[in-house]
Amino acid sequence: MAHLRCTAVPRVRSYLSASFLRTSTPPATNNGVRYLSTTAALRSSKSFAPHTQIFHEVAPLRKFRRDLLFNYRTVGLVPTMGALHEGHLSLIRQAAAENADVFVSIYVNPTQFGLNEDLASYPKTWETDLRMLNALDRELASVGSGRVSAVFAPSTKTMYPTLPPNSSIPGVGSFIEMRPLGQLLEGASRPVFFRGVATVCMKLFNICAPERVYFGQKDIQQTVVIKRLVKDFHLDTEVRIGPTAREPDGLALSSRNVYLGTRRRNVGIVLNQALRKAEAQYKAGNRKRGDILWPANDHADKVELEQDALGPSKRARFEVDYISLADPETMEELEEVDDSRGAILSGAVKMLPIEEPRAGEELGVGDGKIPVRLIDNIVLDPVILG
Ligand code: AMP
Repeated sequence: MAHLRCTAVPRVRSYLSASFLRTSTPPATNNGVRYLSTTAALRSSKSFAPHTQIFHEVAPLRKFRRDLLFNYRTVGLVPTMGALHEGHLSLIRQAAAENADVFVSIYVNPTQFGLNEDLASYPKTWETDLRMLNALDRELASVGSGRVSAVFAPSTKTMYPTLPPNSSIPGVGSFIEMRPLGQLLEGASRPVFFRGVATVCMKLFNICAPERVYFGQKDIQQTVVIKRLVKDFHLDTEVRIGPTAREPDGLALSSRNVYLGTRRRNVGIVLNQALRKAEAQYKAGNRKRGDILWPANDHADKVELEQDALGPSKRARFEVDYISLADPETMEELEEVDDSRGAILSGAVKMLPIEEPRAGEELGVGDGKIPVRLIDNIVLDPVILG
């Protein structure tokens, strides 16, 4: 599973398609930031991109990107839906360490939300996001890292020029689908999700033409889908995966966590706890599905029963959607882990609305009424023999 981890800084790829732009000298580095040029002036990000520029349209962003290309600068793209948190920022830092320029896209993509999902209520925090990006850019400038050079925040009309996007399952429009990969696990519960993700990422990659794209391990099936997209459509970009940023107790950071409130947040750690119990089985040498998964299922069942037994003013009920042990490239369920491939342990739980709030209780955005889907995963690394 080493390929799913953020390990070594990658080689600088020759993204440049025009042969006259190719450089025969090794790529220059400046505090670890990769450039394709050895010209000192071009390495000074201060003189080139002092501030993050905001783009809403494709053409000006393309021109900006082309100018960077002609100046031998590498671009790392971090696609997001905004409501930024430390998980997003860690990906941007990683991108800035490996590229001269970082593009961050902020776009809540409607086609990845099913008709009954939380598109309307998805948190939108544009001003705060920009403040966070500007502060991060200043931090990056001070350490001589790559810069946050562009924020791309398109409208839906820009991203879907031909038709209004359609989220129904038969869906009219131009879409990219991976079958069966996109229909498993998250895709089983959210049938249009990966179609929307793959489609919007194809658009973003075409618009930004990044040398590298950055995704969080937090959404592990999404990373598998994106790797498949790049491979099957021969996209000229490298997929880089950043580790999951977590709260001190292990809860994975997520834009949706603001809806949890204290009571559901405290119980929501059940998923990470369950996965860690399964991981311990793998580390102890177990390879059979039942042996690995039973303590995870057992833990989730126990916590569910404990919560059910509490009164409605005390409990936070949840439903386990899945706890999976899957192949790292296909996401197909495994009966036994092959040491040479490792596996992905992943899970999803739905935190149900708070039934009876207590006076003065901190219920989160939406007053505890919005169900919250939590996902998490642990990569079981291959075992290198001998
Ligand atoms: P989102 O805005 O939720 O679509 O996420 C944008 C990117 O940030 C995706 O690649 C996510 O996997 C990544 N991401 C979200 N949460 C985390 C986290 N806790 N740690 C690392 N990456 C994350």
